[in-house]
Amino acid sequence: MTLTLRNIAKTFPGGTTALRPTDLEIAKGEILSLLGPSGCGKSTLLRIIAGLETPDPGASIIFDGEDVTQQSVERRKIGMVFQSYALFPNMSVRGNIGYGLKMQKLPKAEIAARVAEVIDLCRLGHYADRAITALSGGQRQRVALARAMAPRPRVLLLDEPLSALDAALRGQLRDELALLLRQFGITAIFVTHDQDEAMAIADRVAVMSQGAVAQIGTPEALYRNPATSFVARFVGDAMPLEGQVEGAHLQLLGGILRLPKVAGGQQVLVRAEDVRIDPQGPLTARVETVTFLGTHYRISLAGVMTGPLFALHSGLSAPRPGDEVRLSIPPEALLVLPREVAA
Ligand code: ATP
Repeated sequence: MTLTLRNIAKTFPGGTTALRPTDLEIAKGEILSLLGPSGCGKSTLLRIIAGLETPDPGASIIFDGEDVTQQSVERRKIGMVFQSYALFPNMSVRGNIGYGLKMQKLPKAEIAARVAEVIDLCRLGHYADRAITALSGGQRQRVALARAMAPRPRVLLLDEPLSALDAALRGQLRDELALLLRQFGITAIFVTHDQDEAMAIADRVAVMSQGAVAQIGTPEALYRNPATSFVARFVGDAMPLEGQVEGAHLQLLGGILRLPKVAGGQQVLVRAEDVRIDPQGPLTARVETVTFLGTHYRISLAGVMTGPLFALHSGLSAPRPGDEVRLSIPPEALLVLPREVAA
């Protein structure tokens, strides 16, 4: 299903503007992530699409050409998966998945067929008759997805579906979720504040800040061509380089860097993977901490600017805390971007 959102805004009684006028177009079968920090308005947008929240007047929500703005949650035929799963703990996996279909009063044979289909797709066959309390967090997450998909929704909305799980399991499940959503071929919108999750699961990511979409694009496009310093910081952890811009140069405490272009009034940022330890480099720094992370070392450097600068260093050995080192940053790795607008 194609989803078109026009002029969606929300000011809550009491005057909080949760969402500024927003337009979005989501293609059939596309997985879009709404990514942003707490309070940026992503859940409000999702709840408006679901019909759980009323947008300000003038909005239109269009499902496959049909205006559903005034329709109830039920009529919109939406599937939802929440952080808390909201499963019935003492009911079996099969019972949970079939519950919504029973409420719709579908024929028994139809219910059984649909439940079997999603159980199979979500690889829950071994657990079908177990109670929810006897499942792991990851299995519960798959049950929640299967339950949302059983009524064959037009669009699936997921609100932080992985955030209740521990870090290791999350990593594993985000790949699994990405695969399952694509197997279902469903149009899906996925809210998260975790950039890795958004990048791993979504076809396109809408980065939100202060009630507005700051930029929308594929994970690669956002990473390579962030439009603002907010997007650069949020997607790929770019660090602002605090210094004095002079034409196409940046004067830092630890030396001068050549910029890829003249940067009048803009901010210069860099990612840790682009900061290189290089005996010929133009910057001097002192190593503060060195953390071994398996594939690379993460090094905190003092003296380049007031705050720390981080570098990712691969290789068999790393400098030690207290060492004086020289650094280089290739000009093309420096992001010269408009400053964030303060809240
Ligand atoms: P989080 O990740 O913390 O859930 P979010 O990006 O989903 O954040 P929203 O829940 O959409 O953010 O909230 C956006 C803004 O609207 C916040 O400032 C929030 O306090 C406010 N807000 C949300 N719901 C209500 C409400 N029912 N009444 C008043 N203000 C609200």
